[in-house]
Amino acid sequence: MSDLRSLPSVDRLLADCGPLIQTHGRPAVTVALRAELATIRANRPDPLPDAREILIRVVKSMASEAQSRLRPVLNLTGTVLHTNLGRALLAESAIEAAVAAMRAPAALEFDLDSGGRGERDSHLRGLLCELTGAEDATVVNNNASAVLIVLNTLAKGREAIVSRGELIEIGGAFRMPAIMEQAGCILREVGTTNRTHAKDYLQAIGPDTGLLMKVHTSNYRIEGFTKEVSAPELALMAHQAGLPLVNDLGSGTLVDLRRWGLKPEPTVAEAVAEGADVVTFSGDKLLGGPQAGFIVGKREIITAINRNPLKRAVRMDKIRIAATEATLRLYRDPDRLADRLPTLRLLARPEPEIRAQAERLAPRVAAKLGCRVRVTDCASQIGSGALPTETIPSAGLALGPSPEALAERLRGLSTPIIGRIHNDELILDLRCLPDDAALLAAISG
Ligand SMILES: *Cc1c(COP(=O)(O)O)cnc(C)c1O
Repeated sequence: MSDLRSLPSVDRLLADCGPLIQTHGRPAVTVALRAELATIRANRPDPLPDAREILIRVVKSMASEAQSRLRPVLNLTGTVLHTNLGRALLAESAIEAAVAAMRAPAALEFDLDSGGRGERDSHLRGLLCELTGAEDATVVNNNASAVLIVLNTLAKGREAIVSRGELIEIGGAFRMPAIMEQAGCILREVGTTNRTHAKDYLQAIGPDTGLLMKVHTSNYRIEGFTKEVSAPELALMAHQAGLPLVNDLGSGTLVDLRRWGLKPEPTVAEAVAEGADVVTFSGDKLLGGPQAGFIVGKREIITAINRNPLKRAVRMDKIRIAATEATLRLYRDPDRLADRLPTLRLLARPEPEIRAQAERLAPRVAAKLGCRVRVTDCASQIGSGALPTETIPSAGLALGPSPEALAERLRGLSTPIIGRIHNDELILDLRCLPDDAALLAAISG
């Protein structure tokens, strides 16, 4: 049995910790020393480590502890808008705007013309109206809160009519029926999972109806024997009954994606033109900005939403308002959008370019990692619920053997590399790799 009394005291060890205290501060070093001593006491290794050995261990544990848990990773999963990896990457102009808003006071709710109080929404309203053709617009924390506040404002204590084919779960606790309940409205489901007709809505409309709702079934497709009622038809029905139509687009996009060789997603301008009174969509999905929830539509509805006390609870901060404004500005110049907006740039990267990159990198990655590496076809996805059944041809590296062990090793790098295991290989889809150097630097680290 080792004699624990021979272990050095915390005070003795602290005396030799000058540089460590410089870096991390005395309280943190003290905590780390105590933790290391406690581990040794619990395990009673024989022989006991000496003071030098204990200090080496503490230096190591403090270095790894000091790395941010939220650190940059390489997203080589093939899913461009990966929710668990933070969705959209911001454009440089958006990053600069956010940094400027963090560094200095900003005229957030201050009208520079009159010197009086201004409105936080005014920075984005004009741009949103211009880009969507809507009468008015407001912005909140994310699309989930956009849906919540719209429902609460328009149908609290009343019924919201939705097709059974559109009662989506986005993930986590975001299920349309649960959001309805939290918003204080009564879900009135109509139709069936695969087929909903105009008469289903008409029969459900009554004195307790607050609104009609259409939800973009963003993360799944119902195929086969199906029927849904189009947005223009629903708008007509709603307006005849004096009710608003709400369209939750989810991802939504401000441009026609076909221009960049992608399959089309509904644009917000289309949804507005189809007669929806309110359209909601996300900031950090296809739009390529920071997390945000946009609400565009009829002026009196937006005014009512802005007066709802919930608005304060779900409002957006100045940093994201600045970044959102800069992102929206890029949409004024669609010709240069793909050069400036990382999400679109990555989605539009041509497969031959990615394959050439894979060919270049394969031998170098094999040499660095000492494993088997071959170039492989990949099928990238947009992610975040946009075009769930569509894939984009891509290329990447397939690593083996022992993909689990390789995946763990790559996750443990100081810039972790996140891939995907498929058919007993670790697949690194290179669509989201901005340049070769980033991968080579990461595997050297
Ligand atoms: C993603 C999505 C939401 C939630 O949006 P967040 O910005 O993640 O809060 C809501 N509705 C639909 C249809 C979606 O696709």
